[in-house]
Amino acid sequence: MFAGMPQYARVLVDDSGGNSFDYELPARPGSVPLVVGSRVRVPMRTRTALGTIIEIRDTTEAQGVKLISEVVSAEPLLNPRLIELGAWIADYYCCSLEAALRSILPQVIRKAGVTHKTQLYARLLTTPDQEALGALAKKAPIQAGILMYLKAAGQPVPVTELTEKCDATHQAVQALVKKGLIASESTRVERDPFQNETFLHAGRLELNAEQSQIFERVLRAIEQPPEQGAPKPLLLHGVTGSGKTEIYLQAIQAVLERGQSAIMLVPEIALTPQTVERFKSRFAATQQEVAVLHSHLSEGERHDEWHKIRDGRARIVIGARSAVFAPCRNLGLIVVDEEHENSYKQEETPRYHGRDVAVLRARMERCAILLGSATPSLESYHNAIHGKYEMLKLTGRVDDKKMPYIRIVDMRMEAAKKSSILSEKLITAIHARLAKKEQTILFLNRRGFSTSLICPACGYVCECPNCSVALTFHRAQNRIICHICGHTAVAPSKCPECRDPNIRYSGTGTEKVEDLVAKLFPKAVVKRMDADAMTRRDSYKEALGAFRTGKIDILVGTQMIAKGLHFPNVTLVGIINADMGLHLPDFRAGERTFQLLTQVAGRAGRGDVEGEVFVQSFTPFHPAIQFARHHDFEGFWEEEILHRRQFDYPPFTHLLLIAIRSPHQARAEFSAQTLARRLKEALPEGTTLNDPAPAPLEKSHGNYRFQLMLRTRNILRLTRALKDVLDKLTFPSDVIVTVDVDAYQLL
Ligand code: ADP
Ligand code: ZN
Repeated sequence: MFAGMPQYARVLVDDSGGNSFDYELPARPGSVPLVVGSRVRVPMRTRTALGTIIEIRDTTEAQGVKLISEVVSAEPLLNPRLIELGAWIADYYCCSLEAALRSILPQVIRKAGVTHKTQLYARLLTTPDQEALGALAKKAPIQAGILMYLKAAGQPVPVTELTEKCDATHQAVQALVKKGLIASESTRVERDPFQNETFLHAGRLELNAEQSQIFERVLRAIEQPPEQGAPKPLLLHGVTGSGKTEIYLQAIQAVLERGQSAIMLVPEIALTPQTVERFKSRFAATQQEVAVLHSHLSEGERHDEWHKIRDGRARIVIGARSAVFAPCRNLGLIVVDEEHENSYKQEETPRYHGRDVAVLRARMERCAILLGSATPSLESYHNAIHGKYEMLKLTGRVDDKKMPYIRIVDMRMEAAKKSSILSEKLITAIHARLAKKEQTILFLNRRGFSTSLICPACGYVCECPNCSVALTFHRAQNRIICHICGHTAVAPSKCPECRDPNIRYSGTGTEKVEDLVAKLFPKAVVKRMDADAMTRRDSYKEALGAFRTGKIDILVGTQMIAKGLHFPNVTLVGIINADMGLHLPDFRAGERTFQLLTQVAGRAGRGDVEGEVFVQSFTPFHPAIQFARHHDFEGFWEEEILHRRQFDYPPFTHLLLIAIRSPHQARAEFSAQTLARRLKEALPEGTTLNDPAPAPLEKSHGNYRFQLMLRTRNILRLTRALKDVLDKLTFPSDVIVTVDVDAYQLL
C-alpha cells in the first residue's frame, strides 16, 4: 500500500443498536497502529460516540466517510478471537454483535473513564546513619521518626501510611523531600478485593487411584498439540465430595507450568469465600496471582482484575458466568464447575449460556475444557453418551466416606398431626444433633414468612397489582412483597375486601421456619440465610464463618446454602418441602428437583460422622425424589431421557422461546399471533412451532406476556430465518419481543 493512501476502519458503535460504520483511519506516524479491537471515539450525526474497530479495510462503499476523532486505546482491548466469539454469539443467540460485545467487554473497560489507581509512595534516597538521625531527632523528632520507619520497612511506603503511623503531616514528608533525604513518587497500585486477607499456603493432595486416572486424561487433553485441533470436551461426573475440585486445582497447576492460563467458572452463588480461599491458598504456594471476577466487585476492582488478566499478570481466573470472556492470553484450560447450574444462563440480552460459550471458546482457542458436576445436565450427559464429549466418572467419595443416608418423610401422614411444617421424625433428629453438638441445615427454597394472605371468609387473596402472583408476607417488616417485581405494601390486618379480621397467612417461607425452629428448640442458636437476611456485603461471609466455627446450631436457608459449601460438622440436613418446584409447567421441573435434592443432601456428612437427610414430600414416590434418595443419577437419566425423547424436548432438540409482552393484553396477543403466522411461512423444515399462548406467569411488571415455543434440531438455520422475519416485521411501540435460544426460564 502506498503511503498517504487512506485506510478505513469498520467501527461498531456502542449503544447504537448494533450498527457499524466506516471511518477513515487517522495518520499516526510513529504511534501504535490501530487494529481490530482498538477502541476509538467517532463522530456521529451531532455527537461523538465510543466504538470498537471490528475490521480494517482498504476500501469502503460508504459516502462522506469521516475521520476517527480520537483514539481511546490503540492496543486492542479485544483480541480477534473474542470478536469471533462475539460474532458466533450474535448468530447463535439471535442478537446483535454489539449486544454480544457488550457482554464480552465489561462496561468499566468500555467507557474508558476509569483508570489505574495511583498512590503516593515515599522512598529513602540514602540510608541515614545513627548520628544524623540523632541530630535530626532533637530538632525535628517527627521527621526522624519517618526516616526510621522507612529504614525499618526496607521498601517504599505509602505516604498515607507514614502520616498515620508516624503521626506526621504532609509538610513533614515534604520537608524531608526538600532536604534530599527521601523521594515521594506516584506509583500504580492495584485495587485488590482481597487486600485485607492473607491466604495460608496449602499444598496439593496426593490423588487417589480414581482421581489419578482422570487427571491423566485431563492432562492428555491439555497437552494435545494445537495442530491436532481442539481436544474433545471432558465431562466429569462425580458425586459431591468425590474430589473433583482437587482435580481442577491440579489440572490448572499443570496448565500454569506450561506457561499457559486457565479459567475456572463457578456459579455466582457458589463463588463463596470458601471457594476463593481454596484457590488463593493453593496458588499462593506457587506465587501465582488469581484474578477473581464476580458481580460484587467495585468498578475499580473489576477494572484492575481485568487488566491483570489481559497483561498476563494473573494467569488464573476464577469467576461467574461472564468470566468466560476473560481476556486471557494463551488459554490452556477452561473448567466449568457445576456445569448443570441454570445460573450460567444469562436472562437478559445476550441470553447466552456460559457453559456452552465456554465449550465454543475452547474449540476456538484449541484448549482443553472440563465440565464437572454431581448431577450433569441432561444436555451434557447426552453429549457424553453420544461421544461428542468424553465421559469421566468418579464413583465414590474421597476416603470412602459414605454418602448421606436419605429418608423420605411422607407428609401426607404428617398433615393430620399438629405441625405440618416439620415432621416428628425431623424434630427428633434435630434434638439428637443438638445433644451431640452436631450441626443441622434446614432447606426451603422460599423466602418470607408465608407465601400468601387469604381471607377465610370471602376467599380474597392479596395479589400483586403488576404481576399474576400472590404477595408474600414478610413478618419482620410487616409487609407484603411481590417476589417478581418487588412491589410492596403494608400487610393488612383485616381483609381489604370484606373487612373480616381473620385474614390468614398460608404457605411457608424461611422466616416462618426460623420462627418455628426457635420456638421448638429454645436453647439452640438458629440463623437464617436468605436474600432478606443477607443484605450487607459481608453478612454472608460472617454467617458462614459463625456456622463453620460452630457458633450456630441450626442454619435455615434458601438455595444460598445449597451449593458447594463444606462443613464437616453438619450431620443432618432437612429438606422442608421437596415438592416445591416439582409441579411447575416446565419440562425440566423433575431434573431441577433431582439436582437440588442431590446438592442439598450433599451438604450432610462431609466430615467423619455419616450424614443423614430428611426429605419431606407430599409426593414421595415421584421419580425425581426416589432416584435422588438412592443417589442414582443413571437411573434418573434413563427414566427422564425417555420422556424427553417422547416429547421431542432438549437434549433431542433446541428449544427457542419468543416472549411477546405489552401493557395492553390485546396488543400482546395480536402481535404474538401475527408473528406466529409469519413464522409459519418462513420456518425451515423440521421446526415445530406451538400456537401462541399466554405465558404461565401471565402478567409480570405490569406487562401481559405471550409465548411462542419453537423446537428444532438445527438451531442456526432457525435463528437466521427468525432474524429475517423479525427484521421485516414492526410491532406496536409498546410491544416488546425477546428471543431466548436454549431457554431455561419457561415461566
Ligand atoms: P468435590 O469437588 O467433588 O465436591 P472436593 O475436591 O472438594 O470434592 O473434595 C472433598 C474433600 O476431600 C475436600 O475436603 C478435599 O480437600 C478432600 N480431598 C480431595 N481429594 C483428596 C485426596 N486425594 N486425598 C485426601 N483428601 C482429598
Ligand atoms: Zn409484582
